[in-house]
Amino acid sequence: MGDITSLDTQPMSELVCPECATPVSQREVPPPWPVRRRRLLQVAALLIALGYVVWRNIEAWPVLPPPTVRASVPYTADFPSHRYTRPTIERYATGELSDGRLIGDLLNTDIFSNYELGVTFLPPSGVATEFRRYGWPTVVVFYRYDASYDDVYAKTNPSATLSTFRNGWWWGRDYISKRIDASGRRESFVFYSRGLAGEPLMLLAAWGAGRLLRWIVFILRIAGRGGPRKRDRLAHRAPVLCIVACAIGVTIASLRPQIDPGYAFPSLVNPAWSNTGVTAADVAQLAERPTGEAVLAQAILDATPGEISTPDTCLAFGWRSEIGTTHTYASGGWPIGLVHKSVGEQQGFEASSRPAYNLDFQRQWVVAVLRWKGELERTERTSFSLLQAASLALGLCAVWIATGLGVWLIGWTVRRRTAKRLARGWCVQCGYDLKGLTGDAEAVTRA
Ligand SMILES: [Zn+2]
Repeated sequence: MGDITSLDTQPMSELVCPECATPVSQREVPPPWPVRRRRLLQVAALLIALGYVVWRNIEAWPVLPPPTVRASVPYTADFPSHRYTRPTIERYATGELSDGRLIGDLLNTDIFSNYELGVTFLPPSGVATEFRRYGWPTVVVFYRYDASYDDVYAKTNPSATLSTFRNGWWWGRDYISKRIDASGRRESFVFYSRGLAGEPLMLLAAWGAGRLLRWIVFILRIAGRGGPRKRDRLAHRAPVLCIVACAIGVTIASLRPQIDPGYAFPSLVNPAWSNTGVTAADVAQLAERPTGEAVLAQAILDATPGEISTPDTCLAFGWRSEIGTTHTYASGGWPIGLVHKSVGEQQGFEASSRPAYNLDFQRQWVVAVLRWKGELERTERTSFSLLQAASLALGLCAVWIATGLGVWLIGWTVRRRTAKRLARGWCVQCGYDLKGLTGDAEAVTRA
């Protein structure tokens, strides 16, 4: 606006518009206030949007229903991720093998710490589930494979059945289809439309990082703004270069399959379990000790001395508790499914100490865990869906960008109107026709 005052010194300054007293020589109008207050408007729009999100989430926050009660927890039955025959466990017990794999496969920090470990040796036939995901940072395409196998480790002779299922769009956002694949497994395919929000978010972040990088480079005078050197031009293009690099990285990461070995259950429903007397807390403690794995292996052998283990049987394990538990679960939040909440409590639990707080980053979830430890325990989990959070974050970015674009459009409209008025010899401020005012309208338009 300094140029407007400087115009006053020009000879045309004595001529003013009879309508609004703007000097005839004025060739610009001050930008309207939204253009001058662009950042403020963007922050305000973002705060309003955030307020709306908070309000919707307060309304839709999951409310836990009355808990279901289980008198006691029977053994769950799992095959560990790797095959362990009795001779292998013996090698662990002597210390000949100590790679941390056995204890890692049996360690479970999600269950109550007084749960007891039961073991048995079984033929490796059972049901296995595997997962394969594509998409980064958020999953877009998801495959799940289920089948019965003669050997869940070697994946021999898969077979599966297909229940009646409607292939198509679910909840208007996910496409799900199921089929029996060429090898005989049941394949479940899911396309998560909300997963597509993760990639543009990464590009926006890359653009921001590029701008920050450029700003730092200019501040530190590593490169000059608009300079002729190669590094000046490189610094100028930093945001674009960051976007390109990020797009390449995200594409490569998204196309690479993320394979999850999943889990496997024995086909024998009620195997004869042997209680090791080892609790989940014991396993966690043993995992910290150098000889812990050998101690655990010996406990497995001691618990199963009389069992006939043929060469083709392998370790299966389960957790149980004679203490009853109560469980309750609810999902909610906005967008729908953003928050999942669950509480598990052992019967007779009374809070005697403060809970331990832990933030757990899982593949598609961020889980806040509150855990009350002790004789009897309680666990509260609040899980946030990364898929929903990504679409929410992209929506907030869209509000910011749309506000910026709207303000830019106002500025553009004003500049265009000013140019039009100048071309026609009108007052830039109010559009009053100045032609014939001075008898030299040509001078006005030419200036
Ligand atoms: Zn005027």
